[in-house]
Amino acid sequence: AANEDVYVYDFAEGNKEMADLLGGKGANLAEMTNLGLPVPPGFTITTEACRAYLTTGREPDGLREQVDTHLVALEQARGKRLGDAADPLLVSVRSGARYSMPGMMETVLNVGLNDESVAGLAAQAGGDERFAWDSYRRLIQMFGKTVCEVPGEEFEHALDEAKAARGTDNDLDLDAADLRALVDDYKKIFAKHTGREFPQNAREQMDLAIRAVFESWNADRAVLYRRQERIPADLGTAVNVVAMVFGNLGPDSGTGVAFTRDPASGTQGIYGDYLANAQGEDVVAGIRNTIPLQELERLDKKSYDELLGIMATLEGHYRDLCDIEFTIEQGKLWMLQTRVGKRTAAAAFIIAGQLVDEGLIDLDEAARRVTGAQLGQLMFPRFDLAGKPKPLAKGVGASPGAAVGKVVFDAERAVELAKEGEAVILVRRETNPDDLPGMIAAQGILTSRGGKTSHAAVVARGMGKTCVCGADTLDVDARGKKFTVDGTAIGEGEVISIDGTTGRVYVGEVPVRPSEVVRYFEGEVSPEQGDADPLVSAVHRIMSHADAARRLRVRTNADTGRDAARARRFGAEGIGLCRTEHMFLGDRRELVERLILARTDGERQEALDALLPLQRADFVEIFEAMDGLPVTVRLIDPPLHEFLPPLEELAVSVAVAHERGEDAAKAEALLAAVRRMHEQNPMLGLRGVRLGLVIPGLFAMQVRAIAEAAAECARRGGNPRPEIMVPLVGAVQELETVRGEAERIIAEAGAGEVSIGTMIEVPRAALTSGQIAEAAEFFSFGTNDLTQMAWGFSRDDVEGAFFWRYIELGIFGISPFESLDRDGVGRLVRIAVDEGRAARPDLKLGVCGEHGGDPESVHFFHEVGLDYVSCSPFRVPIARLEAGRAAI
Ligand code: ADP
Ligand code: MG
Ligand code: MG
Repeated sequence: AANEDVYVYDFAEGNKEMADLLGGKGANLAEMTNLGLPVPPGFTITTEACRAYLTTGREPDGLREQVDTHLVALEQARGKRLGDAADPLLVSVRSGARYSMPGMMETVLNVGLNDESVAGLAAQAGGDERFAWDSYRRLIQMFGKTVCEVPGEEFEHALDEAKAARGTDNDLDLDAADLRALVDDYKKIFAKHTGREFPQNAREQMDLAIRAVFESWNADRAVLYRRQERIPADLGTAVNVVAMVFGNLGPDSGTGVAFTRDPASGTQGIYGDYLANAQGEDVVAGIRNTIPLQELERLDKKSYDELLGIMATLEGHYRDLCDIEFTIEQGKLWMLQTRVGKRTAAAAFIIAGQLVDEGLIDLDEAARRVTGAQLGQLMFPRFDLAGKPKPLAKGVGASPGAAVGKVVFDAERAVELAKEGEAVILVRRETNPDDLPGMIAAQGILTSRGGKTSHAAVVARGMGKTCVCGADTLDVDARGKKFTVDGTAIGEGEVISIDGTTGRVYVGEVPVRPSEVVRYFEGEVSPEQGDADPLVSAVHRIMSHADAARRLRVRTNADTGRDAARARRFGAEGIGLCRTEHMFLGDRRELVERLILARTDGERQEALDALLPLQRADFVEIFEAMDGLPVTVRLIDPPLHEFLPPLEELAVSVAVAHERGEDAAKAEALLAAVRRMHEQNPMLGLRGVRLGLVIPGLFAMQVRAIAEAAAECARRGGNPRPEIMVPLVGAVQELETVRGEAERIIAEAGAGEVSIGTMIEVPRAALTSGQIAEAAEFFSFGTNDLTQMAWGFSRDDVEGAFFWRYIELGIFGISPFESLDRDGVGRLVRIAVDEGRAARPDLKLGVCGEHGGDPESVHFFHEVGLDYVSCSPFRVPIARLEAGRAAI
């Protein structure tokens, strides 16, 4: 039919913008082809064909014919035919999805060889029988493993035996006869596992390989990887069929990989590895030692110069660091792959800065190329590796940070030692919910099993705790209280250091140094001196640009003058959440006890009068640190009995007092109060605005302290800008009651303008936000509580209990406490924004939950049109960057 779906594209027909359809590899092969670079000819079968195959279980109509047509064109281009015994065309069949997925099927090289064409291949290679048999045994091995699921070890074992029989461990020492015998062994292995002979029909080999690539999209490890990286499950993969070029045709052939600049530091130069007389997969397989790419200059100057020229072309064209795969066939260079290369967080900033200097990109683009998560990584303290410590093991860097501590093997011991003030690292094969107390007590967590979605990884990230997982060379013997790595045993109490970014594990204490980037934010290192650290100056430039671009203001959550001052240095433009809870702790507990035990209004007022000056002093300190910037103070939120000793503790002291015949009246009264105030579900109990309405004078005292502190600061010439925030409001009447009294007190104190608003953290508040806005000058979304209440689970209890399982099952991509759940909680936010603003157009809107510092959530808050986000001081730079990126 005329408008039949197109499932196959020649490399000359695609380009780099077509990655959705052609996959990353195919789109870039097409781009290189059209740039005139030496790419072997080939074609790409689209992701659409793959999707069709996966839904219907068979190749879509027309695919076979289109492959036929393109194969003929390929055969003509090479002057050889697939399956021709005398002069065979060989191809590789390569998977290539939209996003690079290391969990996917590998490539099958040398497709088209069989018992007859192996002789034809030898003839093509000038009678090189060894080369031909080597290529054939590779085909059976790769085809067997990736297309027919024959266990790879079986082939490796046979290869090892062949080498042992020759008394060598280098595969180059095997001669044509050895390899021919090995082919026989391989065929037997193939037949044993598949119940059929190795297919001799070249086209059948190719078709089976293509189908296997399609099916690999749904292989367990691919599914797992996608969940972990949040890649949609329905994209499918493309398949690339590429004419073979041979790096294993003798000493003037070879294969290599390279980066156009150093992916670890961003430094320009030549970074790569080369292996002479080898086929592609040998470089990564580490079969023989590669040589640094620089040495290719000596071996083959012509190809080397050409390669450098191509690398410059690619950088200029992609305007970014690229990584490449290439092969040299008897002095002729071929490009087999390129893509914009992965890089470390530091290199991402440095490279973006360099590319701006080189005029390849502008600052908008530079800001797009870095992320808040990367900036966050750069803010963790790091190990000082100047002493070149040798890592004992390496796992997956699952939650960043640098942790040092004594090894412990169970949660109980971790808690014990932590109580004694020891820093500990909890080492487990894998963790489960029973380990939670130990994980909380530890500085870091190290496991020998599991990846980025394991229980250990998910929970550690949630807690912001350093974690290395899946360090599989570790043999953990929890009962024997030791772990061993290659014969080295580390017992309980020995000190290790773990790096949650790189996944490295060291014996002993590696010194930790503060991050340069944090020192820059602190104002300790200058970004502008001539000898400025390139990372610091790149961060500075991109941050300044993001600040200029962003619409969202960034405030901080801070309860003390010290935190406020630091956050301000980090760029905070006010306080979005000043909790007043800590102002009731320490020595002040006694006053809180008096408040709770008061039997008369007079007694209660006395306790409140004693608290007032203390609170006022706290506020003065904070207003001064944030002079000129808004400070949102939240009136007391947690249930008051949280400030009393636990029930058991009180019961014991009452009993002890009785035993000793001492006066137990006070302890008894407290005990009675605690019993009386006990709640089944404190999070849903007497807290927030309910406290203010039930305990006379409590909110009034706090409002007075704020108003008087503001008046005092203003008298001293300061510019305090307090805002009073009422927590846990669900109905406008609650807010109106508090507001009436507060306005009176503010006027009495002569505090000038103090706006009064509310948190939106109870779903009912979001749903009645139009009414609530009548009584509120601002809303601040308390997305922690809003998430708890929208989902109906308690953050303090459930994260370690079942979130890992939910993530494993794909119910969440990520914990909804980490990244805002757009569909559910986000909808509540949208309703409140729309209805609140409709009722009061100048309503100020912010967010003060943990999400205020989460990159993805910041983009959402930008989209819904909030005025500001507020987050912990260390997250302020991350929020600034992401707010800028969201606006660019
Ligand atoms: P991966 O995505 O795992 O890198 P590739 O499809 O890139 O898989 O192929 C694996 C190896 O085989 C690479 O080193 C690649 O360069 C090499 N290779 C792929 N196709 C060909 C070909 N047509 N000729 C020579 N080598 C090839
Ligand atoms: Mg590759
Ligand atoms: Mg709350």
